[in-house]
Amino acid sequence: MRFSYLLAPILFALSPLSIAASEHEHEQSLDAHVHGVATLNVGLDDQQLELQFESPTMNIFGFEYKPSSENDKQALIEAELTLKNEQALFKLSSAAQCVLSAVTIENDLVEPTQDAHEHEHDEHADAQDEQNHSDIQVGYLFNCATPDKLHSIDLAGFFKAFPHTEKINVQLMTSTAQLGVELSQSNTVLNW
Ligand SMILES: [Zn+2]
Repeated sequence: MRFSYLLAPILFALSPLSIAASEHEHEQSLDAHVHGVATLNVGLDDQQLELQFESPTMNIFGFEYKPSSENDKQALIEAELTLKNEQALFKLSSAAQCVLSAVTIENDLVEPTQDAHEHEHDEHADAQDEQNHSDIQVGYLFNCATPDKLHSIDLAGFFKAFPHTEKINVQLMTSTAQLGVELSQSNTVLNW
């Protein structure tokens, strides 16, 4: 997904607003990083259900820098605890009897006060640092006793827990179904 920002200058060059917007393009033009928007990949393989969630950290923590104040640190801890409480976030078809087996959380929060030029030769400084944007990836693995009975996931709890998330682009892949759905605060159920 990261390569998409390479296209941004081209898209801006074609836009009549490009001159006015060019100074801000790094903050506003990323298809792969839009505040309020997240992605969720759902894969069901035999009894194993995998949810891969990716989002700007803004949607989850309310900021995109490494926390420095106590308030920020507390917000990060609480958000991560909420993310790990999968039963409150994802309501799976109960007949499928899915049980969580693992959660992984990774984020790339950037330094709150940093000069992109100082990091120019730092192998860890990528385009994200220069733009002061951060993403979070959360992976959930479930084991489902009766995977044939898994036909829906309701994300109402997720949208309630993280109200800055306005839209989740969902891609589902199972052995019998493949679909893409856009979920939102008012349309929270993935059915297949
Ligand atoms: Zn951002």
